[in-house]
Amino acid sequence: MTVKTPVYLDYHATTPVDPQVLKAMLPYLKEDFGNSHSTTHAFGWKAEKAIAIAREQIRKTIGAENCREVIFTSGATESNNLSIVGAARANRSRGRHILTSATEHKAVLDTVKHLEAEGFAVTVLTPDEFGQITVKQIEDAIQPETILMSFMAANNEIGTQNPIHEIGALAKKQEILFHCDAAQGLGKMDIDVERDGIDLMSISGHKVYAPKGVGALYIRRKNPRVKLEPLSFGGGHEHGMRSGTMNTPGIVGLGKACALIDELGVAEKERIRKMRDRLEKAIREAFPDLLLNGHPEERLYNNLNVSVPYVEGESLLLGLRDLAISSGSACNSESMEGSYVLRAIGRSNDLARASIRFGLGRFTTEEEVDFAIEKVYHAIRHLRANSPLYALAVKNGEAPPVDA
Ligand SMILES: *Cc1c(COP(=O)(O)O)cnc(C)c1O
Repeated sequence: MTVKTPVYLDYHATTPVDPQVLKAMLPYLKEDFGNSHSTTHAFGWKAEKAIAIAREQIRKTIGAENCREVIFTSGATESNNLSIVGAARANRSRGRHILTSATEHKAVLDTVKHLEAEGFAVTVLTPDEFGQITVKQIEDAIQPETILMSFMAANNEIGTQNPIHEIGALAKKQEILFHCDAAQGLGKMDIDVERDGIDLMSISGHKVYAPKGVGALYIRRKNPRVKLEPLSFGGGHEHGMRSGTMNTPGIVGLGKACALIDELGVAEKERIRKMRDRLEKAIREAFPDLLLNGHPEERLYNNLNVSVPYVEGESLLLGLRDLAISSGSACNSESMEGSYVLRAIGRSNDLARASIRFGLGRFTTEEEVDFAIEKVYHAIRHLRANSPLYALAVKNGEAPPVDA
């Protein structure tokens, strides 16, 4: 087998820039370098026009009514900050309660924590064992003071998708603003801000084959017109919501990435899903006691996250060093705490640490999946063959013997 190692299977962390995206961007890094706010010459007009096209491409992909509802940021972290802090501050006279969930990205959780210090009350819901938030749960947690809820489209570790359409409908009925972090969902789920009742939505360039450092925020302008307090000042760009010279090449890239999502759509999804299913089947058949993290069906088609009982997270990663993957022990390596997402769905600290996340993507090949299956098979067998814990479990009839 001739694959280039390490094999990249970490598409939830970031994606490479698509060659077509790069091609669209290059002129704006070279000859068309103008500042979109230079209104006195052609350099500025060209940049302004390119940004307008990108805005329209994004509008179309997310189903927004008006391209003025899309503003550009540096990424989903900034979009999450601006929408949550901005909406909370602008609506504080209506109430001071915010709802979110324990498996949100830190860019949401740290932001709501910051708002607590400003006098807001935050309820952090615990998802079910699959990582899903239910509408009933939200309904029960709503208070007269609730002004904002933030729930992600899909989780970055376990891929679980939330019922955003139902959440959006509830939010509309209760007249509560709905912010959705769609950094992982965009391009992999069918998301339509109008149909799904989303008022604010964060997206990130580098999760959808555009560069790092560019993102967007959808801000509804009708039914209701969402008010935000800006977080940065100077220049009044993006309707005063996000001052600062526009990142024209990045924005062009994000626009092109969205156009590619619309173009590749279903075909890409089916191809990647098949490979993911093959990977999942092979390693779960080889090791029937592996635990699937995330929802068995309502999960991103490129995601596989499993916990491997009786092995240690670090040894697992070491054994799989030919694969660029991530582990539930990796993010919080200093604290020895396993992933907070896996802890929130009820995994023990050991199982949270002994987890591996695969994220397949546009450039993943069948050969790479074969290679990954081989590597995982041998690594787990090897680790278990040398694990006293595993030997004990086999002796007690709690685990299947390694050799079958
Ligand atoms: C990657 C990611 C973010 C952060 O996006 P950046 O563009 O890197 O700031 C936020 N939320 C989720 C769910 C993500 O996967």
